[in-house]
Amino acid sequence: MSISHAILSEIFGYHAFRGHQEAAIAHVTAGGDALVLMPTGGGKSLCYQIPAIARARAGHGVAIVVSPLIALMHDQVGALQEAGVHADFLNSTLDSTQAADVEKRMFSGAITLLYVAPERLNTPRFLALLTSLYERNQLSMFAIDEVHCVSQWGHDFRPEYRSLTLLHERFPNVPRVALTATADALTRSDIVERLELQSAAQYVSSFDRPNIRYKIVEKVDARKQLLKFIQSEHAGDAGIVYCQSRKKVEETSAYLEEQGIHSLPYHAGLDMQLRQANQDAFLRTELGEDNIVMVATIAFGMGIDKPNVRFVAHLDMPKNIEGYYQETGRAGRDGESANAWMAYGLQDVVNQRRMIDESPANDAYKTVMRGKLEALLGLAEATDCRRARLLRYFGQEVLAGDGNPESLGAGQPRYTCGNCDNCLTPAVVWDATEAARKALSCIYRVQQSTGIGFGAGHIMDILRGKKTDKMAQFGHESLSTFGIGADISEQQWRSVLRQLIAIGALRVDAQAFNTLALTDMSRAVLKGEIAIEVRESAKAAAPEPRAAKRYKSGSATPDATKPKMLPADLSVDAQERFMALKAWRTEVAKEHNLPAYVIFHDATLVAIANSAPQNQQALSQISGLGARKLATYGDDVLRIVAGSAPKAVSGGADAHAYETSDDTGYEEQI
Ligand code: ADP
Ligand code: ZN
Repeated sequence: MSISHAILSEIFGYHAFRGHQEAAIAHVTAGGDALVLMPTGGGKSLCYQIPAIARARAGHGVAIVVSPLIALMHDQVGALQEAGVHADFLNSTLDSTQAADVEKRMFSGAITLLYVAPERLNTPRFLALLTSLYERNQLSMFAIDEVHCVSQWGHDFRPEYRSLTLLHERFPNVPRVALTATADALTRSDIVERLELQSAAQYVSSFDRPNIRYKIVEKVDARKQLLKFIQSEHAGDAGIVYCQSRKKVEETSAYLEEQGIHSLPYHAGLDMQLRQANQDAFLRTELGEDNIVMVATIAFGMGIDKPNVRFVAHLDMPKNIEGYYQETGRAGRDGESANAWMAYGLQDVVNQRRMIDESPANDAYKTVMRGKLEALLGLAEATDCRRARLLRYFGQEVLAGDGNPESLGAGQPRYTCGNCDNCLTPAVVWDATEAARKALSCIYRVQQSTGIGFGAGHIMDILRGKKTDKMAQFGHESLSTFGIGADISEQQWRSVLRQLIAIGALRVDAQAFNTLALTDMSRAVLKGEIAIEVRESAKAAAPEPRAAKRYKSGSATPDATKPKMLPADLSVDAQERFMALKAWRTEVAKEHNLPAYVIFHDATLVAIANSAPQNQQALSQISGLGARKLATYGDDVLRIVAGSAPKAVSGGADAHAYETSDDTGYEEQI
């Protein structure tokens, strides 16, 4: 058995590696640099944790893990300690005595993995420590988590990440592994260039998350739509709702509470203790307990590894596909089915566009950002498979049913994933070529006759022939385009305008009160050279089947409806054991001040409940039970399975001194 396999089973209790894990681990353990790209939940952590353990055993000393997530370090380190790994963190939540103690232990070789925030690396004190370790060959490796933060093209740019260049400059022989769940080609090459990882091995996994069902709806009354979505598909589930502004976070959270859905707000403007308390409450609720819907800005979520988040909803459109994918990726990390739901409308497009236009960035940057926004808009407006679009965006080829690379041309077999709204309920599309020409010529004429541009509302009024004060004021009733689109509803007009913006045939001029302006592309549409297809408004769409409890790859048929609060794959007589194990786990987790899934995943409890092991040997076969957990909790678990009460909760990691962080590590950008 290889050393990495031995560690996988002895420490983590898993029986096999996933995807590129084994190759990446072997490469880094042997002292190579690596860039690991895996989707959220893909298993990145083991790609640095196992090399760190292996290298420490070989006498190479401590591994430094750079992570921007101060608020989560406690839980990350707690999870390793539970598995019997000597892990610790050094950040602003420790007082000077505690920090000095960690430093001392690191120095004496008692720590295998040390988690630090990037800003700490830059401090003279810490650099001196590292230098001293380096000189003694006791610096085993660097892991740079969430490495997309180094790139300004990524959606979470953090200036402190730039200083990570000092790692290879000062400590050239120390292997580095950089990891992220998001990186399009541009971000990826930027990471490589910034951190000089040109000769690093790259491990790029498929970005598909087959258990996540993508669904994007047109905004009509977003709050009500959200409520209906939660009530009909996710009653009692844990989920995250993203909003653009802090104000909207608070309003939405209060609204959900009023409607009887337990919800908490999270944004960077909240008092930090409240923020931490809300995050802890969200993380520490488990299956069958009082689940929480977290309503948040994008300040919430990076590194959140709660496995049973059943849905992620966007009440406003994110900035780009990377952001959308990262945020939706927080759903369903346990592999069970989950929903990614987004409501979007013309106003979202206008707002995002304005933020780009008004930002102080240079033109090159703005051009890239506009391109990214358009790609997201294209996804939202798409009538074909959303998953295929997402994967193609990340450079992954998607094959059609007949195995040929998919072509979007007419008559070609279309790829269907079977688990997105467009595949489940094929969109009814409407040929809007003529309507699009009417809209563009209307905008052209208004500009000609009045000398100024107008926003979408007024343009639609002209098209629909509405007599308003503004109409009279500008004499627009006499325009030849007045009323030429009265047969088309306002909702349909909005779709047409969004589609035109999505393909770049119309732009929103943020510098001039969000007026609509023609582009070079407009001409081709006006001449009828480009066909415009728009989805019929959602009003007639039938409700979709509830997401299956467990998504089976290759099967598009949902299983039976999920029995509330209990895992579906639990035999009837195992349910009682499961409930007893869960109650015990809750107690242990509270005692150790850790989320319950850090003690045992639901999947591990389900496996124990189903197989009802009678002895340590049988118990050790179950996935997720390493040697330390077996020694610490094995007897208790066996006693519960045998039907008697466990002894008082005991053992496990030392309760770690822990105070709330004064810094979540990063701010939302708006
Ligand atoms: P991410 O890539 O998002 O950082 P994690 O490293 O947190 O993902 O892994 C996601 C989950 O999958 C974790 O609960 C982890 O314990 C589990 N996991 C990772 N690798 C394996 C494996 N080889 N076998 C079983 N479970 C694994
Ligand atoms: Zn699909």
